[in-house]
Amino acid sequence: MKANRVVMWFRQDLRLHDNEALQNALKKGIEVIPVYVFDERVFFEKTRFGFRKTEKFRAKFIIESVKDLRNSFRKLGIDLIIRVGKPEEEVWTLCEKVQAKKVFCNIERTDEEIKIQDQLEQNLWSTGKEINYSRGKMLYYTQDLPFPVCQTPDVFTHFRKEVEKYINIREPLPTPTSFNRWSIRVEAGEIPGLTDLNYEDFEWDERGVLSFKGGETEGLKRLNYYLWETNLVKKYKETRNGLIGGDYSSKFSPWLAQGCISPKTIYATLKDYEAKQGKNKSTYWLFFELLWRDFFRLMGKKHKNRIFWKTGTANKKIVGGDDDLQKFKNWSEGRTGVPFIDANMRELNATGFMSNRGRQNVASFLVKDLNINWQIGAEYFESLLIDYDACSNYCNWNYVAGVGSDPRENRYFNILLQAKRYDPKGDYVKLWLPELKKLSPQKVHQPDTLSIDEQEEAHVIIGSDYPQAMYSTANWA
Ligand SMILES: Cc1cc2nc3c(=O)[nH]c(=O)nc-3n(C[C@H](O)[C@H](O)[C@H](O)COP(=O)(O)OP(=O)(O)OC[C@H]3O[C@@H](n4cnc5c(N)ncnc54)[C@H](O)[C@@H]3O)c2cc1C
Repeated sequence: MKANRVVMWFRQDLRLHDNEALQNALKKGIEVIPVYVFDERVFFEKTRFGFRKTEKFRAKFIIESVKDLRNSFRKLGIDLIIRVGKPEEEVWTLCEKVQAKKVFCNIERTDEEIKIQDQLEQNLWSTGKEINYSRGKMLYYTQDLPFPVCQTPDVFTHFRKEVEKYINIREPLPTPTSFNRWSIRVEAGEIPGLTDLNYEDFEWDERGVLSFKGGETEGLKRLNYYLWETNLVKKYKETRNGLIGGDYSSKFSPWLAQGCISPKTIYATLKDYEAKQGKNKSTYWLFFELLWRDFFRLMGKKHKNRIFWKTGTANKKIVGGDDDLQKFKNWSEGRTGVPFIDANMRELNATGFMSNRGRQNVASFLVKDLNINWQIGAEYFESLLIDYDACSNYCNWNYVAGVGSDPRENRYFNILLQAKRYDPKGDYVKLWLPELKKLSPQKVHQPDTLSIDEQEEAHVIIGSDYPQAMYSTANWA
């Protein structure tokens, strides 16, 4: 057994900067062998309600992120080993082959990921090897928090008040600049293409907010763009509820979800920006949103699998909440006859992204107006979202469904009011539903109220060119 050779298992931490597990591997191993495994279950299997676990948008993003990481390693003289299969088997087999004693990785905290890391640990133990966990997802270190994880306040505001003023966010860890060459040959393995994973290749829809490209390089570029190049961060609080284009919010989420960029690095850059360019409500607000991300991660740690249960972290029985698959289908396809909902769902289906405003509205509509089980919606998001993150997704759905940590009883979105407020001229709706492009701002959010004459005049026949409303917009008027 070569004691000074270690394996660094990359997961949703596809970066060199601020990577604690990688730093720990470098401290302990003279030769570090990095590996990424395309988990066949993540790409080929289906969710409980039958959606593909990972749709093409996220699959493409992951492939690009792994390519970028491999390029970075190659520039530093070593390779990123690639395998396709089950990580708990592939990483163990690699360890056997290269006679590495230890595996380093950043720990994951949600069910499927925990099972995999536990099984890998068992496999490693069976041959006298071990796994060494680090942490790398949050702004805060749990050991710095003023409460034990299991006593994290369930209300966001309480959590925020206990941490933001009193706890320092640590500096990001440095990016390694060199690696020792290996004294052993290892088959590098090829990065699969989309078609190898059974997806069709695709071009980005030009109406989408960004042509997202995965990887640390692109993630850091986006950070630089949003802060230094454009100063967009200075107006974030005013623009963040936008719906169209790349600039209304940071769009950091896909890079954060795959770990291409670290939240601590965003925070450190934000602080540097504030020192040089001045701080305002908007620069604070970006930090505030990143706190939500930490909060939901902590909810996941505290409540474990309850974030996935119908009764949520609050353990609350829901009245209703059907599995009506026909109604669900209309919602998921963007065919409800409610334009603001349909436009958002069509954007999601065409691009894998939806604004935060959109997500809140479509989720509320599904759960509160159509009375459908929120778990189906959450699984659909899990499948489609380019920025899917288990804690952020399921805890946000808990919140909207009223089974999470929202202190307000029965939070409800009036979809018509929301549509008129955030899309007053109907530009967003018309972008995704061109069949409604001739409608006036007064009518565009309520096509179900058009008379036959109005339909003819606007060249849209309801029930044929655009669906009949499955939920009358008059309910919100
Ligand atoms: C039903 C529902 C499901 C969601 N699913 C996900 C998900 O799977 N993955 C995900 O990253 N976000 C999810 N969100 C949160 C939020 O919608 C996205 O983080 C945000 O739209 C991403 O765009 P952005 O990076 O431009 O965000 P910005 O507005 O620029 O915010 C900056 C960052 O703060 C974090 N953030 C902002 N809002 C939230 C929030 N409500 N919860 C947690 N973190 C937040 C994100 O990391 C985001 O990148 C969900 C929200 C809802 C209502």
